[in-house]
Amino acid sequence: MTDLTSGPIPVDLGRPQELLAYVSYRLGYHPSNCLVTLPLHEAPEEAVLGSLTRVPCSVLRAGRRPPGAGVGAGRRAVAIIYHGELFDLLAGAHQEPAAHRSAKELLAAVASAVDGKLFDPTWTFVVGPEAWRCLACHAPGHCPPAGHPRATLEATTVAAAMVVRGFTLLTAGQQRRLLPPPTAPQVADPRVEALLEALTRRGRLPRAGPWRTVEERRWRAALAGPAHGWGDAQRALLGLSLHDVDLRDNVIYAVSTGRRLPPVTGDPSHFNAMLTRAAAPDLPHLSAKLGLLATVAAACPIAFRAPILSVLAWGHWWARQYPQANILLDAAREHDPDYSLARILSQLLSNAMAPPWRRAPML
Ligand SMILES: [Zn+2]
Repeated sequence: MTDLTSGPIPVDLGRPQELLAYVSYRLGYHPSNCLVTLPLHEAPEEAVLGSLTRVPCSVLRAGRRPPGAGVGAGRRAVAIIYHGELFDLLAGAHQEPAAHRSAKELLAAVASAVDGKLFDPTWTFVVGPEAWRCLACHAPGHCPPAGHPRATLEATTVAAAMVVRGFTLLTAGQQRRLLPPPTAPQVADPRVEALLEALTRRGRLPRAGPWRTVEERRWRAALAGPAHGWGDAQRALLGLSLHDVDLRDNVIYAVSTGRRLPPVTGDPSHFNAMLTRAAAPDLPHLSAKLGLLATVAAACPIAFRAPILSVLAWGHWWARQYPQANILLDAAREHDPDYSLARILSQLLSNAMAPPWRRAPML
């Protein structure tokens, strides 16, 4: 009998629902609007699952080839597309030409991300909000027109093994509460307008200027004490100021270590020291700082949220809240598919890397 409590997690590759359940539990939530690829390394006696890569559809559609999404020669790739509209289209629900075009473009982007010649429709699955199906079934009639109910994923051996080992899935409500509202408060403030203009025109904030000293001081105060009483404009400024990479990295340092925010003009070696000689964080303190970052994200203008959402994702990763980190990174990459901190952190999570203070891997 299979031992569910220890040893490798049993995944029956002949049963797609086992693979799909494995991915949801591995991420910690039911994903949407993304592609997950899973290379299968063919070992002589059994197939071995490689590391999982998750790419938001917005990144795929932007035509970028995500690092690690392709798989090397001689292996096989499982591709899972989480996309409600594509699922509906395959089920015959949408017939508008625009929906067809959009689905065809998405599939072409998936094929190129997986690596053209290894893209295999019979190892590609499409998951909608309520049901899943094969893109092309191994055996005719395997998938009914409406697909298989998503609830079948809970009745899998993998789900049982993951639950026994303490893995859980975030509910849709928990996911929604994690993300900032889809609109930001309108603020008429000349300081906010000046930073927005610099970001829109030059794509970055001026390196010098009084804004940097002011926002650094404001971040230090916000991180040091209760952040009640900050207005929308002040929180928008805090969010926008993280487009300055030095300030952003110092905020990450202060949030992760609980120490005072270092000066941007100082020696930056503290950041690397944190990665190599990390101590376990004070979790209640870290959690309070995550609350502060969430209020800053909510006030930050929508198109400029990639840095604040990435910092928030970093904080959750540091607290070993991996599903939360993944969800926030997807949101960050919606705003800027190429944002490098989000890309790097996504790769760490794809490779099951725990934060350095925790020596053991994530799994
Ligand atoms: Zn099928």
